[in-house]
Parts: sequence; structure tokens; C-alpha cells
Amino acid sequence: MRAVIFRRHGGPEVLEPAEVPAPSIGPGEILVRVKACSINHLDLWLREGLPAYRLTLPHISGCDVSGVVERVGEGVTRVNPALKGGMKAGDRVVLAPGISCGRCDWCREGQDNLCVSYGIRGAAVPGGYAELASAKASDALPIPEGLSFEAAAAFPLVFLTAWHMLVGRAALRAGETVLVHAAGSGVGHAAVQIAKHLKATVYATVGSEAKVPKAKALGADAVINYHQDNFEERIKVLTGGRGVDVVFEHIGPQTWEASLRLLAKGGRLVTCGATSGPSVTLDLRYVFSRQLSVLGSLMGTRAELEEVARLVVAGTLRPVIDAVVPLAEARAAQERMANRDVFGKLILVP
Ligand SMILES: [Zn+2]
Repeated sequence: MRAVIFRRHGGPEVLEPAEVPAPSIGPGEILVRVKACSINHLDLWLREGLPAYRLTLPHISGCDVSGVVERVGEGVTRVNPALKGGMKAGDRVVLAPGISCGRCDWCREGQDNLCVSYGIRGAAVPGGYAELASAKASDALPIPEGLSFEAAAAFPLVFLTAWHMLVGRAALRAGETVLVHAAGSGVGHAAVQIAKHLKATVYATVGSEAKVPKAKALGADAVINYHQDNFEERIKVLTGGRGVDVVFEHIGPQTWEASLRLLAKGGRLVTCGATSGPSVTLDLRYVFSRQLSVLGSLMGTRAELEEVARLVVAGTLRPVIDAVVPLAEARAAQERMANRDVFGKLILVP
């Protein structure tokens, strides 16, 4: 099959189209003909080489995969009774980006993103930058009529991540205020919509004037171009000096200290990423005197993914697709993402 792989870590130039063996499937697994796969920041980190992930090279990235079931392994119709009539060749599916064992204490408690052997598709196993992908049948959700393959591949990782951050971790409530950094990013554009769905007041930052009206269209109450204005001063003015209840962080050192200073008493900072670097300083005086919480977040649970999928199908949450590009152009697409020249999601199609 055709795929885009990298044989060594490095910049976008290490991505190369290649002919590779198709994945084989075992009992309980399915083979999916990929119709769309979205690009996530994790793809860039994995390509560059993250110490936390030991990849087998050459590697195929791609966490968010939608497509058509090509073939099912032994016993598949019995594996997933949630799918009416079982799963068969020809079914339209989207694959859960999080992979868990289903047996450990965390999994049994429904906190499967804390699974002792938790992995992410496109990191722990080969992903969707390819014509075919394999998965456990239990990791496939049906795509209802009316939802395109591109939209199905656009939502899982970023909407799941943003949902778990705001709902599962920060427990954002109606009437509270939230600052969402980089509202044009995948997780950022999901966070604005989820926070509005929860009836919070949303302040969002973006990196260009062109992104201001787009973030407003998502529902943000105020949008700040951080290249033009000092977001810390603007938020202080907007909140009458009080600060916000929740900061949605995924940037790191570029925004961290101002984010902490902007938290109101009892505020929560929730983070899922570090696009500007891994290390920050923490002024403990802010943390204890204002009784702040600093919360880490990774992906989300299967139940949360199913909740998010329902809201996407209902049209309550709408993944924004910036562009759909051929898989062979994955390198240029990743370069665009690295330059933050994207609003929403970039989708690869084989
Ligand atoms: Zn587990």
C-alpha cells in the first residue's frame, strides 16, 4: 500500500511517500480502507522525536482515521455488540485515537485514558497516513449518514482532548469565565465551542487578524490577537481585574506565567501540551494564596469520545476543516501547521 512514512527523526523533510506492506489483522481486528486522516500536533512531535515515545522506525503517523471496513478478523461480529448487526466489510467507521487494555483497574473504572498500557493511534501503533490501517474492532465507532469522512477524521483527538480538559479535569461550569489560548488550533477551536456549549464566557487568543472573525464565529465572546495586543492586559480589563476561572493551556513557556497570573481565586489551569517548549517556572505564591489548581490532561475516556461524537453528529460541535490535501502532500501540510498557518484541521486523503 502507499503510505507516508519517516525512517529517521527530523524536520518535515524526513516525511516521504513510500510503498509499504499492508497491515495484517488478527482475531477481533478490522482492516480499514482509509478515506481521511487529520493532522495533529502530536504528529509533528513524534516526527521530531519525543523522548516519551519510542517509535519503531520507519513509522506511519496519523491519530484520527476514518474509512470503510475492508475486511474483518475472526470473531469480530461478536466483539462489538454495541454496533447493531455487528461490523462487516463496507461499514463506515472512525477509529478511536486512544487505545487501552480494557482490563486494568483504570479501564474497569472507566478512566481508560489512565490505562497502564495506554497508547495513541499513530504513536503506539501505525496510524492513518496510509491507504490501509488496522484496529481492534472495539476501537471503531460507526459514522452515521450525513457526516463526511473528512469531518469524522477531524473531530476525535482534538474534541476529545478539549472535552476532557474542560469537563473532566477543570469542571468548567455555566457562568464561569475561560481563557482559551490559540483558538485557531485544533484543540483551541474545539475548546471555544465546548466552553460555549457549557455556557461559559470565552476569551480567546489568536495569532493573526485573519483568525479574529473566525474565532468569533465559533462563539468566542472576545478575541485577542496576541501579536498585536498584550493578552494579559486585555484580559485584566475584560474581567475588571478579577481574572478568569479557567485557563485552557497548550502553549507552554510563551504563555504560562501570564496564564497563572490571570487566574481568579480558586482558578484552574489545565494543560495538554507544550508547543513553545517543555519547561516553565511556577510562582508558588500565586498557587497557594489564590488556591489555584494546575491540572494535566491527556486525551480523554471512551465515554467522553462517544459523548463528543454525539454532539458532532447533532451539529452542536462543528470541526472546522481548513483544507483537505492529498496524502502525498503531508510534508507541506505539516509545514503549514508548524507555521501556525491553519485555522481548525488539516485533513489528508490517500
Ligand atoms: Zn487498561
